[in-house]
Amino acid sequence: MKKRIAILGSTGSIGTQALEVIQQNPDKFEVEVLTANNNVDILIAQAKQFQPNAVVIANAEKYKVVSEALKNEPVKVYAGTDALNQVVQMETVDLVLTAMVGYSGLMPTYNAIKAGKNIALANKETMVVAGEIITKAALENKVEILPVDSEHSAIFQCLAGEFLNPVEKIYLTCSGGPFRGKTEKELQNVTVENALAHPNWDMGAKITIDSATLMNKGFEMIEACWLFGLPPAKVDVIVHPQSVIHSIVQFEDGSMKAQMGLPDMKLPIQYALGFPTRIKNNFPRFNFLDYPTLSFEPPKPNIFRNLALSFEAMKSGGNMPCILNAANEVVVEFFLKKKITFLQMSYIIEKAMQKVKFIEKPSLDDLIQTNTETRRTTMLLTEN
Ligand code: MG
Repeated sequence: MKKRIAILGSTGSIGTQALEVIQQNPDKFEVEVLTANNNVDILIAQAKQFQPNAVVIANAEKYKVVSEALKNEPVKVYAGTDALNQVVQMETVDLVLTAMVGYSGLMPTYNAIKAGKNIALANKETMVVAGEIITKAALENKVEILPVDSEHSAIFQCLAGEFLNPVEKIYLTCSGGPFRGKTEKELQNVTVENALAHPNWDMGAKITIDSATLMNKGFEMIEACWLFGLPPAKVDVIVHPQSVIHSIVQFEDGSMKAQMGLPDMKLPIQYALGFPTRIKNNFPRFNFLDYPTLSFEPPKPNIFRNLALSFEAMKSGGNMPCILNAANEVVVEFFLKKKITFLQMSYIIEKAMQKVKFIEKPSLDDLIQTNTETRRTTMLLTEN
């Protein structure tokens, strides 16, 4: 039986790499649904190639272009966010890969879980914003959440067979991004172009900026707490510039398990899609002599303030991680448009965290409202 897959955000970096994996394993996977936000050209090309049952273009204004281009194909075309929330519930979908950017991943992921679909989670913001609600819904609906993020995939792999053994600590490895080792003063003048040039990983613009500010690592700490049911004190970050060790689990006897491999997102994607089976492939293999040294450094939360803010949000709980995420989405947008500087991003996020009303036990509606309110507050802070 082939696994029938819905890819939310199929035109992005994770989406396109997932399709490469699927293309290489036509006996194992079938594309059932593809969705994109705006990128009609790539979506149309993917639909023609993979012949999914349905495609969704989230931006409804682009419906005509897509439906016209696919009128001779046996592919249903839908548009708008409501359609996005419906296709994930289709009877014929076995696994939903959530690879869209940011907060927009929350509701489709929630709806897919409610419909009993297993999730390959690439959209970490879903867990940052609503980790408690999402994990509870997954438990109630007997849904598996398979991590696609390389660090969480590593931890997941290290935990295989260790279910009864408590975890003492997990170490998320962090490349340090393009600005590793820089002082605060040196960070004052870094440009968007500098920030977009990541040394090890090839990713979309939003997550590349998040990697440069270390917000990505902050989000991953929060994501790890929810995915693996750990308190914040058991999650740590270690800078490892080579990005070969993808993360480490330390057990109560002091023994540590690490998962290694070349930095290639296709590996964790393939592991999540194929779980629990490892699929043979011909990706390049690791060569020890290319990496004579693996090194480790402490993270610097006093310089990369987003790391400190994330830890604070994680400890506060409630809607604070949602505030953190919404404020971050706004400042990253403004930074990419060159309207604010690199260092202003953390400063504005911190202000937003102080301003938006804290809710200790937020409902899903509270979180939706928090997101809207935080975006508004952050825009005002950014424009002033
Ligand atoms: Mg990651």
